Amino acid sequence: MPSTINMGIPGAASSVVSGGRSESLSKRVLLAEPRGYCAGVDRAVETVERALEKHGAPVYVRHEIVHNRHVVETLAKAGAIFVDETDEVPEGAIVVFSAHGVAPTVHQTAAERDLKVIDATCPLVTKVHNEAKRFARDDYDILLIGHEGHEEVIGTAGEAPDHVQLVDGPDAVDNVRIRDENKVIWLSQTTLSVDETMETVRRLREKFPTLQDPPSDDICYATQNRQVAVKAMAPECELVIVVGSRNSSNSVRLVEVALNAGSDAAHLVDYAEDIDPAWLDGVTTIGVTSGASVPEILVRGVLERLADYGYDTVQPVTTANETLVFALPREIRPPRS
Ligand code: SF4
Repeated sequence: MPSTINMGIPGAASSVVSGGRSESLSKRVLLAEPRGYCAGVDRAVETVERALEKHGAPVYVRHEIVHNRHVVETLAKAGAIFVDETDEVPEGAIVVFSAHGVAPTVHQTAAERDLKVIDATCPLVTKVHNEAKRFARDDYDILLIGHEGHEEVIGTAGEAPDHVQLVDGPDAVDNVRIRDENKVIWLSQTTLSVDETMETVRRLREKFPTLQDPPSDDICYATQNRQVAVKAMAPECELVIVVGSRNSSNSVRLVEVALNAGSDAAHLVDYAEDIDPAWLDGVTTIGVTSGASVPEILVRGVLERLADYGYDTVQPVTTANETLVFALPREIRPPRS
């Protein structure tokens, strides 16, 4: 008999037993752990909430603070105004920069407009910015593996535009040209697929054997941990549901990882209502996870909907415990008592 724990989900029992596809006789959900909010997202969302509390509405936010529809809509209702560019913010107003980071030119524009900046860039993105600055100072060619047009990549490349070349996946390697084989390093976006990135690095190294690795992992702990958890559960699943938004890089990667790791199907949903009942036809085991920008309430909604369809056994699949917490940005940190 599986041991049973209370997950606090109406109508859903849960257990910590594991079993292969052939052993599962009843409908069940495997719930990935860790999933959902990472330390950088938690900090960014709290930053906007505290800015609204402290200064009142409106508080301007450059770009989506994190890539999640529900989070953005909730903060907008509370008085946050999301803008595409800093020059849309009235002179002298408060502006929060999103977790994805910004290029130095954005800071310059904000200073010219006398904006009061609260920078919610994730410290792990800032780490990659600092690496780009450091290797540019030493005149390296920096091969930045990432998705073209992603805000984080634009911000990181903006630190050293004359030294950074974007490498958008393994197929882009053919077009890479460098100046000096002894001064070339790769860096990456924080939210990529670990496996695909390693394939890109393998091809780069084939071409440039002296390619240097980053001083430490650029793909962040949260991205890696969520992918490991999905890899652990996907082989047992006929379907994996990833809660997350389409513009969330790490959420989209989880769908790809689930399919590559053996799930027959995988879908991204913003909300429980996005689940198409046809996906459940003939399915016994459903894996559920969520991207790093997804609040847990949305996962609970999915579990409740699945319970309505008879998937009322929830079994956690735990591959790591996360305890990392980042301090809030200085401008919004509560005074020490
Ligand atoms: S996904 Fe990683 S880099 Fe992005 S905000 Fe979260 S911890 Fe930071």
